[in-house]
Amino acid sequence: MFGSDRAELVYGQKSGRKLVHISEVERGLKCDCVCPGCSIQLVARTKADKVVPHFAHYGPGCSGAPETALHKLAKQIVADSLTLVVPKRIAIHGAVERALPGATDIKLEFARIEYNDPDGIVPDLYVTVKGHELFVEVVVTHPCDEEKIRRIREHGIAAIEIDLSRIPRDASPEIVADAVLRTAPRRWLFNKTIDDAVIGLREEEQNSRIAAEKKLQSEAGRLIKDYLTSMGSFSSKSDSVPRMDALRDLGLLQHVGVDVAGYGCFSVPPAIWQAVVLTEVLLGRKTGKQLVKAVPIANYLETHRFIAPLFRRVSSELEAAAIKEHGRFAAPWRAVYSLNAKGNFEFDRTIPLDRSRSVLDLRLKR
Ligand SMILES: [Zn+2]
Repeated sequence: MFGSDRAELVYGQKSGRKLVHISEVERGLKCDCVCPGCSIQLVARTKADKVVPHFAHYGPGCSGAPETALHKLAKQIVADSLTLVVPKRIAIHGAVERALPGATDIKLEFARIEYNDPDGIVPDLYVTVKGHELFVEVVVTHPCDEEKIRRIREHGIAAIEIDLSRIPRDASPEIVADAVLRTAPRRWLFNKTIDDAVIGLREEEQNSRIAAEKKLQSEAGRLIKDYLTSMGSFSSKSDSVPRMDALRDLGLLQHVGVDVAGYGCFSVPPAIWQAVVLTEVLLGRKTGKQLVKAVPIANYLETHRFIAPLFRRVSSELEAAAIKEHGRFAAPWRAVYSLNAKGNFEFDRTIPLDRSRSVLDLRLKR
């Protein structure tokens, strides 16, 4: 807040309750004004008094008169002009924002400053717009508290709050008018249309989530059907295990043909791709300088067509859904990973790589 503490009172209240600016009145007691805060008679000090024009209490003064004056003046301006800019109606749910139709520059049919709602809510202004009621709160020092907002909400009447806390208390009538009618920050305290739209957005989100889940479920069902077919096809295949002799010499033969979850994703029986993993990838270092981890190994197997095309691109969502259909399903990379994690061998440690590689090199050279 600025201009608050040291601002002089520049608005007095005429007997007809109307606020007038110091520039509009006669000097001294002839101003015929009382204090908007405490109703004590005011004296107009003008340039003839060699001061910046302002009102002084004719007697003991009150504090906070400039705030009260600004508040009353703002309400009076709205009631007199019967126009108002209301905030845009925007429904927000999560990351989704939807602008709702409706003018923001509105004409009021009716505005009342002194209004006691039947339920005891006292708005700063009660106005009607195209037959609809609207409460207008004008903030000079304290924003509308939660309790009042709750009661307005319960009451179901649209309400906005206009924030004048940054307007100097001794601002000219033109500045106050521009601020309260148009430019000062304003927000909806309650608007049923916005609340309903938020409910709509929430329902849309739920529906699209349900639809996505259904779609994923049916994709998973199809994937598992293919998976079972793929597994069934291995028994009839008679492919021989590559580098069988080398693996036997290295004492690694027990590490091929391991039944891991997800082996149906491969285009060959487990013994074959696992032998490839051992001889080409781990010992032959075909993945180059890359760390020998499950994903690069799976990529290598994919490049060399050891992974069946249907299972090359299984997202983690689809994988999770497919596992619900069939507990022994896993994406290819996870099949490779579980080969490792099962303790059959550890990619980088258990196999004495240097020794093994030299033995393998000998074998491969033959
Ligand atoms: Zn006063």
